[in-house]
Amino acid sequence: MNQYDAIVVGGSFAGLSAAMQLARARRRVLLIDGGQPRNRWSPAVHGFLALDGMAPADIRAQALRQLRAYPTFSYAAGTAQCADRDADGFVVQWTPAHPADAGGDAAKAHGLPPGAAAAQRAARLVLATGVKDTLPAIDGLAERWGRTVLHCPYCHGFEVSGGALGVLAAFPQSVHQGLLLPDWGDTTYFTQGLHEPSAEEAAQLQSRGTRVERVPVVALLGSAPQLEAVRLADGRVLPLRALFTAPVTSMASPLAEQLGCAFEQGPTGPHIQVDAGQQTSVPGVFAAGDAAAARHNGTLASAAGVLAGVSAHASLIMATL
Ligand SMILES: Cc1cc2nc3c(=O)[nH]c(=O)nc-3n(C[C@H](O)[C@H](O)[C@H](O)COP(=O)(O)OP(=O)(O)OC[C@H]3O[C@@H](n4cnc5c(N)ncnc54)[C@H](O)[C@@H]3O)c2cc1C
Repeated sequence: MNQYDAIVVGGSFAGLSAAMQLARARRRVLLIDGGQPRNRWSPAVHGFLALDGMAPADIRAQALRQLRAYPTFSYAAGTAQCADRDADGFVVQWTPAHPADAGGDAAKAHGLPPGAAAAQRAARLVLATGVKDTLPAIDGLAERWGRTVLHCPYCHGFEVSGGALGVLAAFPQSVHQGLLLPDWGDTTYFTQGLHEPSAEEAAQLQSRGTRVERVPVVALLGSAPQLEAVRLADGRVLPLRALFTAPVTSMASPLAEQLGCAFEQGPTGPHIQVDAGQQTSVPGVFAAGDAAAARHNGTLASAAGVLAGVSAHASLIMATL
């Protein structure tokens, strides 16, 4: 079993940023990543400083290339199956994605057979495992996710601006999107018969020029991933260029729950509770990114990852004093 100063689980915006701080502090850090970032459905990341418009996979590949230049950094392509705490720190059991793969440094170092689980030990853990999305079950919606069915106007609104846009209400807070979206296009707020705006909200929507449609959307139409229109339950067809909605979110990994971390409820699902330094309720376990935040965005995830990496490093030092 290898001994690391820290194991970072999850190698996207948050995990790569945390690992960078630890590697630059010359600490032995192992990054384990399953390669399933939340934005993998999207052709480009927007609003990320200096990388606007780059493909998500290219951003991660570039960050990983830069991390590999640090001698104390190790990378393992695979899945952390479970993590346990003992008197010396944490033991993480993981399964390599491709043991013979050149990407799996740690797997190669251990000569693991295909599919084998291996235990790795670390004094600190950083969970940057993200969340998974459960999309509204509407015909034609899933195949357009990340292209013309979108979660955030700041990420993708500019690209679909000027056309007819929709907000598919999924939570009471969806009305907020109905107020924002007219800055990008002519907007219809679909209540789906579930999220009727209050009288005050209805007046606000009206003052923003947002129409309210109470008959539910039952299908998305056009040649996917393009969107041309939505069909309503009463048979009407309304032309639309893009539909914004908020999926229900849940933890992409059970690790935080296994470790006994406390959770908080966010607007779309639970997230790991962290303190001002990104430490969870379990000492020595840090968390960052979508898994540990109510607001989900690449830059915010990266910033939280930086903080988690720095805090994990500081806590290693403080433990020796
Ligand atoms: C369709 C879509 C488009 C988006 N577009 C934008 C955009 O343009 N700009 C923007 O700022 N934000 C965008 N976002 C939001 C952004 O993608 C997220 O905020 C960001 O990806 C969160 O980063 P993260 O590192 O926390 O998690 P993720 O990016 O989701 O990465 C988590 C990583 O952890 C890995 N993992 C999980 N469990 C394990 C495990 N047990 N073992 C090993 N690895 C594990 C996963 O495989 C994954 O690689 C978009 C989101 C979606 C859904």
